Amino acid sequence: MSILENVQRVTEQMQHALEKSSFKKQVQLIGVTKSVSSQVASELLAAGVTHLGENRPDGLLEKQAALGRTACTWHFIGTLQTRKVRQIIDAIDVLHSLDRLHLAEEINKRTNRTIDCFIQVNVSGEESKQGIAPEDVPSFLHEVGQYPAIRVIGLMTMAPLTEDQQQIREVFRTLRILQQEVAAKQLAHAPCTELSMGMSSDFEIAIEEGATFVRIGTTLVHI
Ligand SMILES: *Cc1c(COP(=O)(O)O)cnc(C)c1O
Repeated sequence: MSILENVQRVTEQMQHALEKSSFKKQVQLIGVTKSVSSQVASELLAAGVTHLGENRPDGLLEKQAALGRTACTWHFIGTLQTRKVRQIIDAIDVLHSLDRLHLAEEINKRTNRTIDCFIQVNVSGEESKQGIAPEDVPSFLHEVGQYPAIRVIGLMTMAPLTEDQQQIREVFRTLRILQQEVAAKQLAHAPCTELSMGMSSDFEIAIEEGATFVRIGTTLVHI
């Protein structure tokens, strides 16, 4: 298997899941490169991937130094420490892990751009998981409205660690319902039209449940 074949396989699987889904929205593939070299990342771009994701500041900056700021859309998908904001905020296009007000405040302080953000939601309630509780999303949304640098384009979650496909589906479905509720409010700073959910082991379920961004590493980069 080559990287190109991996991209083709995953793209076909995504297409198939989209056909099964009742949501006919376009789904963007984010190639997660945290465990591979810049060389592999460049092969993903050559294979047609236009979004790359990293979960650590150093990894993102390293890939970007090798490939270029405008080589793709750059997604930061990991927990972002407040003290690292200054270092990477202008190197990223989309943040998937907005999970506390203090982070929003720091971003607002460190950039003049508007940053497209996903609010990370801990739908499953697992203690090990980052993210704000579903019931706290409305008040959080209201509060981030005070920071002009923050534009909430959607909600993000990670599925629970389980083999139970139905439980995973329920988590994705819950996030989608919450996203639709927020979108219906038509807040100027929070259009919230997007859903970032689904990784290597569960992206097909996520797409069936309405994902518009899937974050895929392992099954895409391992050859
Ligand atoms: C690593 C990671 C992914 C990709 O996971 P795979 O199982 O390798 O596809 C997606 N989202 C986040 C937040 C990650 O840290």
